Amino acid sequence: MKNRTKVISIFIPHEGCPHDCVFCNQKKISGSIKSPSIEEIRDIIEASLLTIDRSKYSIILAFYGGSFTAIPQTKQKMYLEIAREYKHNNKIQYIRLSTRPDYMDENQVNLLKEYKVDHVELGIQSTNPAVLNCAKRYYSMKDIQIAVKNLMRVQIDYGFQIMPGLPKDTKDKFIKTCIDLLPLKPSTLRIYPTVVIEGTEMKEMFDEGLYKPLSLEEAVEWTMIGYILFKQVGTDIIRMGLHASESLLYEDNMIAGPFHSAFGEMVESRIYWYMLKELVEEHDLQNIQIHIKANPKDFSKISGNKGENRKKLENEYNIKYKFLEDRSLIEDIIIEHEDKSYFLNKKEFCDKMYSWIKCII
Ligand code: SF4
Repeated sequence: MKNRTKVISIFIPHEGCPHDCVFCNQKKISGSIKSPSIEEIRDIIEASLLTIDRSKYSIILAFYGGSFTAIPQTKQKMYLEIAREYKHNNKIQYIRLSTRPDYMDENQVNLLKEYKVDHVELGIQSTNPAVLNCAKRYYSMKDIQIAVKNLMRVQIDYGFQIMPGLPKDTKDKFIKTCIDLLPLKPSTLRIYPTVVIEGTEMKEMFDEGLYKPLSLEEAVEWTMIGYILFKQVGTDIIRMGLHASESLLYEDNMIAGPFHSAFGEMVESRIYWYMLKELVEEHDLQNIQIHIKANPKDFSKISGNKGENRKKLENEYNIKYKFLEDRSLIEDIIIEHEDKSYFLNKKEFCDKMYSWIKCII
């Protein structure tokens, strides 16, 4: 696989979905968004291929939007046929789709295998029964384990999506969700803090005061915990928070909740904040000027969104800093003050946080 990938996304709305997940507006929008025809899919793929340098990128064709394996198999086959054809002709290299864990029985995984699907994202959202029930998603941890087992049997790679902050969710329940899922070692993870969308049952709950979304601050903290935990089992965290293009899907329909266009970076910045805070408190550093040596790629994460970490260092410890470039550092940082130097290893810090989080739950 070439190191870099480009994704061609095909939105498959779940027309006629029999479920009523409280956060989903598909029932409301399904009248206005039609499933793409084969010709339309071909047009999307061909138009995208014209914009991608295939000598540099591997190409993933991704079906997203609904619960792919919950749509009738005749329709699944129609979509998968075209994906397989493009893969066979080496115009794309990978096929990915997203679905629910309770639509992944042996028959279904065999079909995906037959059509050369490479990666399935399971929309787990939570493992807590009360949270799942309240979200009107009636599957259990056992169903999730069976789905994973079935995918493993046919050697299809899998990832998870989780949604911190659903109705009835708490920080402890969210951490427990992560702890439950860690042994399943998903190769990828998307963490989507719950937002309230127009046309959903959750919007009604929100209007009636029965649901309060996480604040941005809470969402960053919870997501950071998920990030640290899953990193420890080698999971690639491919998304934290809705991407701007995904939020466009909802256009003006996003009513409330912790959406921020730089959400993922805010989460990583929070880790740097705790690394810095631990160091300054351990060594009782304050009222000083320091140098932070780091890879320039990490400067903005270290400073935080709108300089949040920089401001906190100044306000809470009266510490000012200047960056020094060191391209040999990858994610780690070195703090220099007078003749002293402190090496902050991000991985070691996350290991420590991981052990601590696992202890408290
Ligand atoms: S989230 Fe998926 S399963 Fe739930 S209502 Fe929406 S389309 Fe249906």
